[in-house]
Amino acid sequence: MAEKVIIIGSGPAGLTAAIYTARANLRPLCFTGMLPGGQLMLTTEVENYPGFPHGRMGPELMADFRAQAERFGASMKDTRVNRVDFTRPPFRVWADGEEDPFEAKAVIISTGASSRMLNLPGENELIGRGLSTCATCDGFFFRGKEIAVVGGGDSAMEEATFLTKFASRVTVIHRRDSLRASKILQDRARANPKIAFRWNSIPVAYKQEGGRLKGVRLVDTAAGKESDLALDGLFIAIGHIPNTEIFKGLIDLDENGYIKVVPGTSRTHREGVFACGDCQDHVYRQAVTAAGTGCMAAIDCERWLAAKGE
Ligand code: NAP
Repeated sequence: MAEKVIIIGSGPAGLTAAIYTARANLRPLCFTGMLPGGQLMLTTEVENYPGFPHGRMGPELMADFRAQAERFGASMKDTRVNRVDFTRPPFRVWADGEEDPFEAKAVIISTGASSRMLNLPGENELIGRGLSTCATCDGFFFRGKEIAVVGGGDSAMEEATFLTKFASRVTVIHRRDSLRASKILQDRARANPKIAFRWNSIPVAYKQEGGRLKGVRLVDTAAGKESDLALDGLFIAIGHIPNTEIFKGLIDLDENGYIKVVPGTSRTHREGVFACGDCQDHVYRQAVTAAGTGCMAAIDCERWLAAKGE
């Protein structure tokens, strides 16, 4: 029998949609994906989620979201959806390790976004060998080492500041001469004596020795000159790309791959398919806005099912 609602993704958006649809008695089935809990599982302290004046660890916050959804009857499948068919209801969803597709009357997409990479030769092989996208996961391995962070946004400042707990020195490599990051995070990074800035610089090649990253070649975007920077570790924090590959051609995406929703709603152009969180938001991308759109998706979905007599 078809589920009433399938939710694809389990970050703040997906789990909030799970809490709300569960409380509406829709017994949602949530596919948690490769990283159950989403991007907050890769962060340390979340300082700006309302309700936690002293901050909360990202993984703990997400464990609470999940427990709250399960308390109201949401079911979780810790696997990744690899294919969908939205041609007509019931919609079909295939998942890793499952032979038969799952069917649902409505689908909420909350697949989030993943780290953007530099796409330089040797990148895949160097991940975990000096190259990382997650300071929280890998910072510990760089005690007393020289490292760098690429990027000029909030993530780059947050990671650089966090990494000074371990590294002897952290160089922020940024392609312009001014930062995009919010003032509070900029000020914190600029005031940290262990953080240095390399302005107008872009990595153009990885230097390696024995299969480990040993530095980067940088090009100066103003002067065009190249130079080498010796490093034990490099953290990439240059933004994200939406996880919407499996929906290409099935629902409307914008030119950057974000799911298009009817403004002010979570409705996609496909009736009965709703989207929330970072897979449809390239502007705000906060845990609290993702949770807010997850709530919107659950309410839109519930009303749509009710109008269909469900
Ligand atoms: P972001 O704001 O998009 O910043 C990406 C940075 O990487 C920019 O400085 C950009 O340079 C640079 N960049 C992009 N592509 C590049 C490339 N190919 N080569 C070199 N540099 C490149 O991404 P983010 O820092 O991950 O933040 C995403 C969202 O999450 C934002 O809304 C942010 O406010 C939020 N966030 C909030 C917090 C917090 O409040 N505590 C923490 C983390 C993230 P340009 O500046 O030149 O474009």
